[in-house]
Amino acid sequence: MLRDAIRSLAEAKIAPYAAAVDEEARFPREALDALVSSDLHAVHVPESYGGAGADALATVIVIEEVARVCASSSLIPAVNKLGSLPVILSGSEDLKKKYLGPLAKGDGMFSYCLSEPDAGSDAAGMKTKAVRDGDFYVLNGVKRWITNAGESEYYTVMAVTDPTKRSKGISAFVVEKSDEGVSFGAPEKKLGIKGSPTREVYLDNVRIPADRMIGEEGTGFATAMKTLDHTRITIAAQALGIAQGALDYAKGYVRERKQFGKAIADFQGIQFMLADMAMKIEAARALTYQAAAKSERGDSDLTFQGAAAKCFASDVAMEVTTGRRPAPRRLRLHPRLPGRAHDARRQDHPDLRGHEPGPAHRDGTQPAVGPASKRRGTAAQREAPGVAPGASRCAVSRSCAGERPLRRTSECHRATP
Ligand SMILES: Cc1cc2nc3c(=O)[nH]c(=O)nc-3n(C[C@H](O)[C@H](O)[C@H](O)COP(=O)(O)OP(=O)(O)OC[C@H]3O[C@@H](n4cnc5c(N)ncnc54)[C@H](O)[C@@H]3O)c2cc1C
Repeated sequence: MLRDAIRSLAEAKIAPYAAAVDEEARFPREALDALVSSDLHAVHVPESYGGAGADALATVIVIEEVARVCASSSLIPAVNKLGSLPVILSGSEDLKKKYLGPLAKGDGMFSYCLSEPDAGSDAAGMKTKAVRDGDFYVLNGVKRWITNAGESEYYTVMAVTDPTKRSKGISAFVVEKSDEGVSFGAPEKKLGIKGSPTREVYLDNVRIPADRMIGEEGTGFATAMKTLDHTRITIAAQALGIAQGALDYAKGYVRERKQFGKAIADFQGIQFMLADMAMKIEAARALTYQAAAKSERGDSDLTFQGAAAKCFASDVAMEVTTGRRPAPRRLRLHPRLPGRAHDARRQDHPDLRGHEPGPAHRDGTQPAVGPASKRRGTAAQREAPGVAPGASRCAVSRSCAGERPLRRTSECHRATP
């Protein structure tokens, strides 16, 4: 039921804009509006703060279904969770009330600011500083590759409060877009997921009240890493949705395309390929859902399981969409050098070239696999058989009339792979 509701919404209200969003490299405003109006933009926010109270598995299913039609749009629910989880995990009650309510209502998105120009995998090597000044902290520094930067109202920012202690001298803060001294760089020119802006965030003498610190001073790095443990799964979900969308598109095409007087779907070689894709997607789904269950339970092996799910699902998405694995070494080693969007051979990577490094693979499972899986066309956004572009049905409102579309999976939805 949950999956059906989200799929209907995604196909009716998100898919029709996905190709244009990617081609024009513009933020998917239509998707944000559709997700907000259905309470699906930040489903992880607990009910006590006005959210839908979705558990980790339900959140994964939302992201997966949105990614199935538009990879850029899937980063709305995914990064809202990434950005706000530090507050949920470690924030004071006041901070939770102040920021989770507006997030749940759709008044502002959240982004997550850990990486810096010289601090990627080595996130503890960050240079952004926060200096205490009475009842305030003053932040200075540059955060790089921040997803949805400029679009989000709220930013969890990790900054050094004690340079002598390395990771134990890092603290986390909530910074608002409207704080004086906050500005943004130009959007990165990416190979795909172009609808989700990735920009630098500049902090120039940003003076914020001390009570915007998340948790105790010096605990920010631990909170950031714990957050990543729970959110690698959301990127696995994105990759899974991309792979499923590609398979669904392919299934439609092979039934339509005729050669030698019959649909190419009738050729056994084609059937082998589709079966192989479906098999690998199911394996990725099983790993991802298992990791989501571990996230919900707080299992001790979550770090490994989440990283494994993210890495495996990303590789499957690459293989399903390009027929090759793993990603080319060149992109893995320096995935976002200026101009790379121009020198890569675009014609042979259907938008998924470059599952790029994701936030801090500290466990080292496979550092070079990450959040930026991408695909331009999907079953629904192009000429998918049976789905008229722009079709305006909305099963969320039809099937959920009078009800919230989401509750905890364990209570009322059986999420079947
Ligand atoms: C599209 C996109 C969106 C992003 N969004 C965000 C965001 O919202 N917030 C945020 O904070 N960050 C974000 N990032 C940044 C991301 O977290 C970093 O890219 C990631 O941490 C890797 O850092 P790096 O790119 O600097 O690679 P580097 O750390 O420079 O690594 C380069 C290469 O060296 C390898 N390597 C590094 N260290 C080791 C090691 N110890 N052992 C073996 N190999 C190693 C890596 O695997 C990689 O192949 C985003 C990145 C991208 C591409």
